[in-house]
Amino acid sequence: MVEYVYGPVLSRRLGRSLGVDLVPLKICTYDCVYCQLGRTTNKTLERREYVPLPDVLSQLDRRLRDEPALDFITLAGSGEPTLHARLPDVIRAVKQRTATPLAVLTNGSLLWDPQVRDSLREADLVIPSLDAGDERLFQYVNRPHDDIAFEKMVDGLVAFRHGFAKPIWLEVFLLGGVTAIDIEVQKIVHLVDQIKPDRVQLNTVARPPAEAFAIPVPDDQLRAFAAMFGGRGEVIAARPDTGSTTLRPATEADILNLLRRRPCTLRDLADGLRLHPAEAMKQIDLLLASGLLTAASEGGHVFYRAPRDFLASQKTQPDTVEHRVEESGAFWDENMTDVPEEYSAQAVERFYNPRNRGPMTAPDGHARITGPCGDTMEIWLRVDNGRIIQATFTTDGCGPSLASGSMATELATGRTLDEAARFEQQDILDALGGLPEGSRHCAILAANTLKAAIEDFRNRRAE
Ligand code: SF4
Repeated sequence: MVEYVYGPVLSRRLGRSLGVDLVPLKICTYDCVYCQLGRTTNKTLERREYVPLPDVLSQLDRRLRDEPALDFITLAGSGEPTLHARLPDVIRAVKQRTATPLAVLTNGSLLWDPQVRDSLREADLVIPSLDAGDERLFQYVNRPHDDIAFEKMVDGLVAFRHGFAKPIWLEVFLLGGVTAIDIEVQKIVHLVDQIKPDRVQLNTVARPPAEAFAIPVPDDQLRAFAAMFGGRGEVIAARPDTGSTTLRPATEADILNLLRRRPCTLRDLADGLRLHPAEAMKQIDLLLASGLLTAASEGGHVFYRAPRDFLASQKTQPDTVEHRVEESGAFWDENMTDVPEEYSAQAVERFYNPRNRGPMTAPDGHARITGPCGDTMEIWLRVDNGRIIQATFTTDGCGPSLASGSMATELATGRTLDEAARFEQQDILDALGGLPEGSRHCAILAANTLKAAIEDFRNRRAE
């Protein structure tokens, strides 16, 4: 039987939490670029009984007998839980079985529907999301179903607050170079004033995301953004230490069941399944050797993931640029059109695998420029003895901006300041194998931002 109850997992917010998965992987109203579950395979607004309630409840009964020390029961899992048409029955049944508080993690996209708002009435805590301050970035970050407009979604959050007296913690998931920019966060602050959640919890990429271009925001920036929300704002705290010493043998199914829904570090697995880390590592080694798990590095941690379809994962796909373009072409630009043929392989490859992307702490030089097209680029430099030893960038622009920022920082790295300051639009275009006429301005933005960062370094030294 499919397992609908998983964990317990150690959640950063909810402590030791038993998860209940109400929709199969991966059915959602969104297809967020940062989703740790990968891309949405069924983007829908249809509400139905995706998983059978009797099976969910019999599994829950069994797990509640085994796991008496829980902080929360959490409805979440492999997609959007409010899509389950029997959500009120699930909540009522859980509350009849246990005094453990019940939380619902939802993307909030259906709260404009009075029936969905009503179905959450008996939850103890609701954690909806708001990841963007306007329609453009909502489309970019959350990639919602066609029938969900930004204004409609925000109106739903406001209406839910009016009718729900228990706590609402609004999760704001910020992305480096996209929404983690003062002006964008300010827009979210403005909406939060209308929504009036009890808490605003800032989060960022901590596990391998659906799209490689979803990058994390450094802790110090997150803390600065949290302060913009006044007393409500907080960065989601590191997970608590359970102090659990109870060990039990892990089954392969336990581990796969958890990792299929949620990539975990060794520590997450060991704590969540109450295993000794050495035992967890032993199991992971076996599963990796069998090809049932994959491992990926993110932010200095290794996360393990179980592919949703083990058979499909055995099929090898050529990892060529063409293959990735075919897979991801819909995100090439903000109009969501396919990658046009006139883009060179170098440009396309840098969009999907930009080099030197991300902010730098304590840089020697830094510049941020918004071009006439509205795209913003930032470049950070580390300089030693008159030579650029490291250059990084972020941009909220589309594919050609990413490719241009990547190439500008690649060209600058290892050069003297004088050499790097001479790079012009044409140098970046030449290195990229050209860009179509309508995208060439991205190379100007990159060249100008690089020059401004060098200028900033020189100004700092002159002071
Ligand atoms: S992050 Fe949540 S809302 Fe976004 S696609 Fe994944 S499951 Fe859906």
